[in-house]
Amino acid sequence: NTAIERHQYDVVVIGAGGAGLRAAIEARLAGKKTAIISKSLFGKAHTVMAEGGAAAAMGNMNANDNWMVHFRDTMRGGKFLNNFRMAELHAKEAPDRIWELETYGALFDRTKDGKISQRNFGGHEYPRLAHVGDRTGLELIRTLQQKIVSLQQEDFAATGDYESGIRVFAETTITELILNGDRIAGAFGYTREKGDFLLFETPAIVLATGGVGKSYKVTSNSWEYTGDGHALALRAGATLINMEFLQFHPTGMVWPPSVKGILVTESVRGDGGILKNSEGKRFMFDYVPDVFRKQYAETEEEADRWYTDPDNNRRPPELLPRDEVARAINSEVKAGRGTPAGGIYLDIASRRSPEFILKRLPSMHHQFKELADVDITKQPMEIGPTCHYVMGGVEVDPESGAAAGTVQGLFAAGEVSGGMHGSNRLGGNSLSDLLVFGKRAGEHAATYVDSVAGSRPAVAQSDVDGAVRTALAPLERTEGENPYEVWHDLQQVMQDLVGIIRRKSELEDSLKHLADLRGRVANVRATGGRKFNPGWHLALDLRNMLVVSECTAKAALEREESRGGHTREDFPEMDPKWRQVNLVCSLGPSSEVALRHQPIPEIRPELLGLFELSELKKYMTEQELASYKPAED
Ligand code: FAD
Repeated sequence: NTAIERHQYDVVVIGAGGAGLRAAIEARLAGKKTAIISKSLFGKAHTVMAEGGAAAAMGNMNANDNWMVHFRDTMRGGKFLNNFRMAELHAKEAPDRIWELETYGALFDRTKDGKISQRNFGGHEYPRLAHVGDRTGLELIRTLQQKIVSLQQEDFAATGDYESGIRVFAETTITELILNGDRIAGAFGYTREKGDFLLFETPAIVLATGGVGKSYKVTSNSWEYTGDGHALALRAGATLINMEFLQFHPTGMVWPPSVKGILVTESVRGDGGILKNSEGKRFMFDYVPDVFRKQYAETEEEADRWYTDPDNNRRPPELLPRDEVARAINSEVKAGRGTPAGGIYLDIASRRSPEFILKRLPSMHHQFKELADVDITKQPMEIGPTCHYVMGGVEVDPESGAAAGTVQGLFAAGEVSGGMHGSNRLGGNSLSDLLVFGKRAGEHAATYVDSVAGSRPAVAQSDVDGAVRTALAPLERTEGENPYEVWHDLQQVMQDLVGIIRRKSELEDSLKHLADLRGRVANVRATGGRKFNPGWHLALDLRNMLVVSECTAKAALEREESRGGHTREDFPEMDPKWRQVNLVCSLGPSSEVALRHQPIPEIRPELLGLFELSELKKYMTEQELASYKPAED
């Protein structure tokens, strides 16, 4: 049965995490008939798993905080490879997006005088993460969903139909974007439960599909994160940037094996937790790189004083950006100072009272008790790096989120987009990123729809037939490999050869393996029918994981330096020349992955002036700094 259910919308948002929901709200507020499509259950997205909080320079805990300090921290965290305009918009608009959430019904934790409480996180100069215990993402999603329900009630009052303005299609996976020339015309997908096919005719699509972590073996990501949006964009003629930059979060669970990779929030360190090796040494003091030396404590005493007197002491080195901490842990384990399960100890039990831990970190307490039988109020946790976040993504226009490349009508926001975080994302900057740029993408998708009024691109039946054929192919093959076996091999290649520490020979090997996997992925066979068939779903996801992995491996081989989430053992230093370059990935005529160098936009002089010249010299060439002028106080 190849019957296809057809729907017409002004704007289709693919993804129901924070970026997708915020974009959909904005498109609906602009009067556009909007669909939200979600591969998983509605409400189940990475956003809901976010624990620590959303970064916004509200200055509630320290009046010295403002957008300029947040901008500086974000650029430093990304090692100056960030799209500066995105970092600027993000720092300026994040506080408004947080306050706006409270008008939708969110309730963040409070300070004693009733302001939104903000917590410390790695790389942020001041306490900046608005939070709800360690369940911030849950509150964010709950509130955005509540706003959607309230809009649906308004629509019901006006039209008698709750879904006339905004409708959610949960457990529906988009497998193909459909173009008319170089314009978006629609999206094709299937429902998870019944395997029915759906076609959405629409001139504007917002991609908000999140990350790519499932191409790695050890990851904090859940099953949906197979790089679908990245691959859909590529196939539609858009480009990806910075795909070599993956964030390996320093603290994932390492024991028992069944839970390896599950995230341990950075809030544990923000709230006083420290890292120790098997000899009991607090080792992070040995790993503060020169570029950060001025901002981090040199002794344990100073580091400990910082928690209560941050104005007169420097930060503990456990709160360095994630890439630094992950590399340090990797080195300790490699030097034979790891725990029995191959991790490092994260200890908050000896540093804070049980009452404090239970109040601030209830989910972590529950997680370790249930999954590892460890009581974190009494015992240290065993942790190690886990693939967590992709800095790379769809190349977008910073103001509108419109995808670069040849396609029109395609927008991207949240983790699927690239540029904002440069080579490394600071914790807490994702939740704020997806609110700021989700809103912008929704708004600009709506404006684009107005611009094509009267000349909406039509969907050609031949394209729909092609999408059906591709979707059914793994079920119709009489021979072919089991998708789980191919997936296992793909994960192994990425984990072993394109992991946290990279080398030329291994990256070259990875590309050979990925080339072999191309043929295997194209021939996987799923047994069974279309009704709730995870093997079939995986068979379709595999081609996305493969193409995204090829972009990552190619870019990782090309970039001959170490920066943020890309560490080359054979090129261990940052190189100012490479800071001037984005690596742009696109698909060639026979779907081969092509890579080109593109100059990174020059940072506006008044933004450069926010930094001290001595700091900029660590990242930039003399030529780039020729017109430097410090900002006036
Ligand atoms: P997501 O929330 O990941 O949502 C993606 C959506 O796209 C989902 O609805 C999914 O079903 C859908 N989708 C994917 N593919 C398809 C398809 N083919 N068709 C249809 N739908 C599709 N960041 C912070 O700032 N602070 C934190 O404290 C924090 N903690 C985290 C904790 C964990 C455990 C994890 C995994 C991440 C954490 N992050 C945190 C990162 C942050 O949560 C994510 O980067 C962010 O939520 C991504 O939001 P998003 O809206 O871009 O996508």
